Amino acid sequence: MGCYHDLPHIQQSCLRCGLVVSPEHQCACKDEDWPFSACLAACIYAFPVDVLIGQLKNQHKLSLSNTLGQLIAAQIQRHQLPLPELLIPVPAHPERLQQRGFNQAQEIAKVVGSILTIPVDGFAIQRGKTLIVQKKLGRQQRTLNADNAFTLAKPLTVKRVAIIDDVITTGATTKAIAYLLREHGVSEIQSWAVARTI
Ligand SMILES: [Zn+2]
Repeated sequence: MGCYHDLPHIQQSCLRCGLVVSPEHQCACKDEDWPFSACLAACIYAFPVDVLIGQLKNQHKLSLSNTLGQLIAAQIQRHQLPLPELLIPVPAHPERLQQRGFNQAQEIAKVVGSILTIPVDGFAIQRGKTLIVQKKLGRQQRTLNADNAFTLAKPLTVKRVAIIDDVITTGATTKAIAYLLREHGVSEIQSWAVARTI
């Protein structure tokens, strides 16, 4: 791995939605209904961060979660955001969890939690298929729906949560979780990730 400063750090982004924007541009997210109080990723999903995430996930290089978790923690500390009471990693697909044996988002969240001293709950949210009304949906929609079907595994008592993921692409996954949390009384939700595609 190269030098820390060579990583594609995100220096400037819209705090509300996480999009990489230049300071002179107002982000277009302002008019949207948005479940997050802040979205932050440490880096752009590009070399070598993409490789590191791939090695963690596919080559079981679990020690890399330390590096990746440190990147998130450093970005949060740099922005001095109000810290949440709880970190919730995006749950893995049950099949993928079985194949891989671990959830990379949870491994990363544990590192972030230990640096920022915030507890992590990897069992608060379940990912699974909800088969209701899916017959009516087209194939693509059905996949999307099953992909982002989340349920709360137990009641939550906290009000401020950050959802942790390795990579944010469309944001649909974290958004689905955020709306679920909001329905269950969580009032301040942040989205933290190692990397974001642009
Ligand atoms: Zn925005």
